[in-house]
Amino acid sequence: MERGDITTLHVDGIVNAANSSLRGGGGVDGAIHRAAGPKLKTECATLGGCSTGDARITKGYRLPAPWVIHTVGPVWRDGKHGEEELLADCHRRSLEIAMEKGLETLAFPAISTGAYGFPLRQAANIALRTTATFLAEHALPHEIYFILFTERDLSIWGEILDTMIKKQSKDQANDT
Ligand code: ADP
Repeated sequence: MERGDITTLHVDGIVNAANSSLRGGGGVDGAIHRAAGPKLKTECATLGGCSTGDARITKGYRLPAPWVIHTVGPVWRDGKHGEEELLADCHRRSLEIAMEKGLETLAFPAISTGAYGFPLRQAANIALRTTATFLAEHALPHEIYFILFTERDLSIWGEILDTMIKKQSKDQANDT
């Protein structure tokens, strides 16, 4: 987990918080398209879009990462429209696609927490829990990075991770 710009990472794949048209947008999506160059848009245009909770893979073009997994996060409405499950789906589908491609290292941004308005703590909990479950059950990817854009986001995600680790140690101690 670190603060930074996901477009600069030397990992096998980075995840993009895309929109369902896959034609580029603002936020992290815009940054990824700018850094990858115009061929990314051309490849995305051949994919026919992507539904919320699902993901698609493309090459990374000029990015240091050779692959980009585009996933479409839910727009937060009131929490009663399946937002939590859809955000978990985004992470699971991205991880499945990374595994199928044989990617060893993958970086996620904080999907849905910008323009799409998902509450940050809730998003962190879902992202970290879904990823931990996937990693426990699959051999790939080996390493997952969560890249937070601001110091505040990083400190909130760090807190949530600490709480999860403490809870896990307590549960393990209770089991023995
Ligand atoms: P969404 O539409 O899914 O909410 P956004 O791109 O608006 O996606 O925001 C998702 C998160 O990505 C926000 O926390 C935003 O601050 C962050 N972000 C924006 N640019 C970058 C970047 N270059 N690298 C990593 N994270 C970024």
